[in-house]
Amino acid sequence: MTNADFRPFVPLAVPEIRGQEWAYVKECLDTGWVSSVGSFVDRFEGEFAAAVDSPHSVAMASGTAALHVALIVAGVRPGDLVLVPTLTFIASINAISYVGAAPVLIDAEPEHWQMDPARVEEFLRRECERRNGEFVHRDSRRRVGAIMTVDLLGHPCDYSRIRPLADEFGLPIVEDATESLGAQSERRPVGIAGDVACFSFNGNKMITTGGGGMLVTAREDWARRARHLSTQAKADPVEYVHDEIGFNYRLTNIQAAIGCAQLEQLDAFVGAKRAIAHRYDEALRDLPGVTPQATAEGVLSASWLYSVRVDERIFGMSAREVMADLGHQRIQSRPLFQPAHLGEVYSGAIRVGGSVAEQLWDEGLSLPCSVGLLPADQQRVIDALWALQA
Ligand SMILES: *Cc1c(COP(=O)(O)O)cnc(C)c1O
Repeated sequence: MTNADFRPFVPLAVPEIRGQEWAYVKECLDTGWVSSVGSFVDRFEGEFAAAVDSPHSVAMASGTAALHVALIVAGVRPGDLVLVPTLTFIASINAISYVGAAPVLIDAEPEHWQMDPARVEEFLRRECERRNGEFVHRDSRRRVGAIMTVDLLGHPCDYSRIRPLADEFGLPIVEDATESLGAQSERRPVGIAGDVACFSFNGNKMITTGGGGMLVTAREDWARRARHLSTQAKADPVEYVHDEIGFNYRLTNIQAAIGCAQLEQLDAFVGAKRAIAHRYDEALRDLPGVTPQATAEGVLSASWLYSVRVDERIFGMSAREVMADLGHQRIQSRPLFQPAHLGEVYSGAIRVGGSVAEQLWDEGLSLPCSVGLLPADQQRVIDALWALQA
């Protein structure tokens, strides 16, 4: 028999709306500038570019839309292959499908849970070759179009190893930085390791606009094309003439207004996330069978979604049993993403390894880490974990 628990619900990660959001949205409504043109869109793009130290930025309707357009401007064509981690949110991989390309699913490395550079190298060196000036996968005869890196759970990939490979084989890096706004690698913000990078402002991301995204790049021509594609590829400001197949992917001024207000709080949000992660790290360090996602040398993680591995043999319970038990105590936790090669849609995709991602799916658990998480609520999570193990 279980007793009803009346303590407050502790959600996994909810937005924090405590700045100028109301004031800025009111300004949109009062002035009638509500749609995809307006001063907040320009301001959000400019301030965001400054925040991630990138020369150009284009606001998008979502992170997924940004990834779709990024792949096109990076030159990925229908029929191409794009390397991508198998352990990622499905949107990364779906964007590859949207351009008519196919994913090559790369396993994770076990420490930081990112795309394994050794597996990237193995695929490019052993399974591909240069043919008529193009870099081609030998078995499928498909051209390799790009590497899509994903900075998973707030932690950047190992660009010190992936960048040289991309350069050696002439492949652009499309960086899915949607989970890692605020992270740094070698003292530089994420979003500039790739040739083009994408961010998301979905409800549970570091900052939110309700829904939205941003594409950033150092390439002025790519930024111009991305803007063109995201606004229905208008060839004339007045006439309805269009010079390619575009999309309606622009962010609205209302969303950008929320974005400007959220961006003003970015440093505070990232600071809060890191403090939460630090407290968990300290409190769980001696808990046998529970291992946090490690942070690599030279990396300052954004600590977006604090996650641990639960080793059932040592802890005595599986990650999903822990999730269920925490749930009974009104504490929300969540497993990691199902590796794409195990899912229905991409089970037939080319892949390189996958057992590490499978183990992370089995053992991984994300814990409550909202920016506004109260210390007392975090202590409840910590105490609950210790009590389960006891
Ligand atoms: C959130 C997320 C996206 C998609 O962003 P949306 O704004 O929700 O479209 C893409 N990739 C990863 C890894 C994400 O976590």
